Amino acid sequence: MWGRELRGELDAFLAEIEQELVAFRRDLHMHPELAFAEYRTTQRIADRLTAAGLTPSVLPRGTGLICDVGSGDGPTIALRADIDALPLQDEKDVPYRSTVPGACHACGHDVHTTVLLGTSIFLAQQAAAGLLPGRVRLIFQPAEELPGGALEVMAHGGISGVDRIFGLHCDPRVDVGQLGLRSGPITSACDKLVVRVSGPGGHTARPHLTADLVFALAKILTELPAALSRRVDPRSSLSLVWGRVEAGSAANAIPDDGSAEGTIRCLDENAWHAAPDLIKALLESVAGAYGVEAVMEYTRGVPPVVNDEVSVEMLAEAAERALGAGAVVPTQQSLGGEDFAWYLESIPGAFARLGTRSPDGVTYDIHQGTFDVDEKAIAMGVRVMAATALTALWDVGPLDSISNAMA
Ligand SMILES: [Zn+2]
Ligand SMILES: [Zn+2]
Repeated sequence: MWGRELRGELDAFLAEIEQELVAFRRDLHMHPELAFAEYRTTQRIADRLTAAGLTPSVLPRGTGLICDVGSGDGPTIALRADIDALPLQDEKDVPYRSTVPGACHACGHDVHTTVLLGTSIFLAQQAAAGLLPGRVRLIFQPAEELPGGALEVMAHGGISGVDRIFGLHCDPRVDVGQLGLRSGPITSACDKLVVRVSGPGGHTARPHLTADLVFALAKILTELPAALSRRVDPRSSLSLVWGRVEAGSAANAIPDDGSAEGTIRCLDENAWHAAPDLIKALLESVAGAYGVEAVMEYTRGVPPVVNDEVSVEMLAEAAERALGAGAVVPTQQSLGGEDFAWYLESIPGAFARLGTRSPDGVTYDIHQGTFDVDEKAIAMGVRVMAATALTALWDVGPLDSISNAMA
C-alpha cells in the first residue's frame, strides 16, 4: 500500500540530505575513535539527532547512545549501527583520510553510523507526520571491534521491549545498490583457548618415574582437534587450531610445566555453546592417561550471528521496495565474528551485507588500511534501513491494532 509512495518519499528526502550525509561520513572517517573512546563520534551523532527533534540518551560510559523515535504504542523495532574504528594505519590517499595516527575506519563503521543517522532523521520526519505505526529504537553501539559493545548496550536495557532488531555491514565484495542476505548463521564464532600442563618433571632417562610432560602435551595438541572432529557434528565446522606452544629448556630434562594456545572457530550456535565443556572433558582424559595435570582457560569471543528467517524476509521485501527488483543477492557465511550475535541470542532479527563496491571498481577488503567504499552505499543503506523498519512495524502493526480493538 505504501511501497511506491515510500520510494518517492525516500527519493525526495535523499535528494535533500545525501550530500550532508556524505560529509558526515567523511568527518567521522577523518576522526576515527577506538572502542569505548568514541566520545567525539557520540557527540556528533547526538547533536544531529537533537537537531532532528529527537532525544538521544548517551550510555553511562559516555560513548554510544540509544534514541527512540515514535510513540510507545505498537511494536518496537531496533536498528543498530556500530561506531568504533580499528587500531590500524589509514593507507589511503584521499581528502578524508584519517587524521589520527594508528586509527582508521577500516571496517566501515563510519558508513554504518551515517546510514543509521540518515535513517533516524527520515523516521523522525515520519513520526512527526504521524506515519510511524510503532516505535523505532536507534542503537549507536560502541566497541564492536573489542568486542563487547553489544553487551554494554544490553546491560543498560538497550533491547528491553524490542520485538525485532536489524543491522547491516559494509560488504566490499558486493556491488553498491545490492544487499546480501542469508537465513541462518551468517558469521562465525571465534574463541580463544589456553591449555597449561604440569607434572613433577625429571630426567629424560626415566620417563616412567615421572610424567612425561612434553609427550603428554604433544598428545593433547594432536588428540584434542582429532577427537573434536569425531565428537562434534562436522556440519558445525568447529575447528581448534593451535597458534603457540611452549615447554622445556634442555634436551635431557622433562619439564614440570608447559602451555599451548589456539583458537576455536565454529559456524553453529549449538556446537559453540557445548564446546567449552566438551574440550575440558577431552583435555582431562588425554592428560590423565599420561599422569599430567591440565587446566584450560577458555575465553569466549562472540557467538555466530544467526539470522531469523522471518526477519530476513522483511529485509528482502524492504530492499526490493526501496532499491528495486533484483537488489537482493545471496551471501555466504563468513568466518569472521560480529558482536551483533549477542542481540540475536535474545530477540529475533537479521544482519545484512550492504554492497559498497563500485561496479567494475576495485574489490577492497575490510580490516585493511586501504579499505574504502563507494559512497552511494550510504543512500542505499538509508533506503534499506528505513524501509525495513517500516516493513517490520507494518507487519506486526495490524495484528496489534486488532488485539487492541478486541481488548
Ligand atoms: Zn571489523
Ligand atoms: Zn565491522
